[in-house]
Amino acid sequence: MSYYLAPSLKQLRDEIDAAHPGRDKKSDGWIGDASHSARKSDHNPDYSAGGVVRAIDVDISDIDVNKLMAVLKNDSRVNYFIYNYSIYGASSFAKRRYTGSNPHTQHIHVSIKHSKSAERAGAWGYSGGSVKPVASKPKPVSKPKPAKAKGTDENRSIQTALKTMGLKVGVIDGVNGPMQKAAVKAFQKHHNLVQDGNWGPVTQKAFTLNKAVQKALRDEGYTKQIVDGYYGDQTAANVRDYQRRVGLAVDGLAGPKTLKKLGVK
Ligand SMILES: [Zn+2]
Repeated sequence: MSYYLAPSLKQLRDEIDAAHPGRDKKSDGWIGDASHSARKSDHNPDYSAGGVVRAIDVDISDIDVNKLMAVLKNDSRVNYFIYNYSIYGASSFAKRRYTGSNPHTQHIHVSIKHSKSAERAGAWGYSGGSVKPVASKPKPVSKPKPAKAKGTDENRSIQTALKTMGLKVGVIDGVNGPMQKAAVKAFQKHHNLVQDGNWGPVTQKAFTLNKAVQKALRDEGYTKQIVDGYYGDQTAANVRDYQRRVGLAVDGLAGPKTLKKLGVK
């Protein structure tokens, strides 16, 4: 009696061959060898059904195994397949450990269902490239970034100075945006300056003078004095303490006499 490979599997093999011309077929097979024929195997012709062979082995050397497995999982003709110590079958091709003697690391074994419809030829879609990969994430679509305003080093240093004072400036980007303006305004408000939000000469002068006072206080031994250019509570307290020590009117403000005494010009 003659035997034949199920047309569906023949077509699958043809699609794989077409997608990978000249592929390595060393581990290919379909008709049962001696070890197969000794036991029940889909590689053995089913003579009760006209001699159909319902399994093929495909060498994995040159093929896209993941793509093929995705194709197999999508096709109702497939009963199960075995690859790399794993058998995929039963409900929705769940992966289970395959404990047979051949680990199937060189080939993938494909068995179709024992039905006439499973034998029928029909496109698998392996060569078509229309198969959805089973477990690959969709590629993130990269949006074109909006053109960024270019920052300047000057603004970057202003932002850094404001941040050091504890004022909110957001990201140090060198762009004179709403956050920088708000922080400059807060600085100006605290120092009784015109609140225009621009780091102009007057603001810069107050900042520089504050730093000089703070540095002088540090030199006088006020170790808690931070030199950040912001005339805050600590600076005022230290100035008061200094004024008391040196016999000046104690007001906590760095007026001309205090500045002169501190050696700040
Ligand atoms: Zn096999």
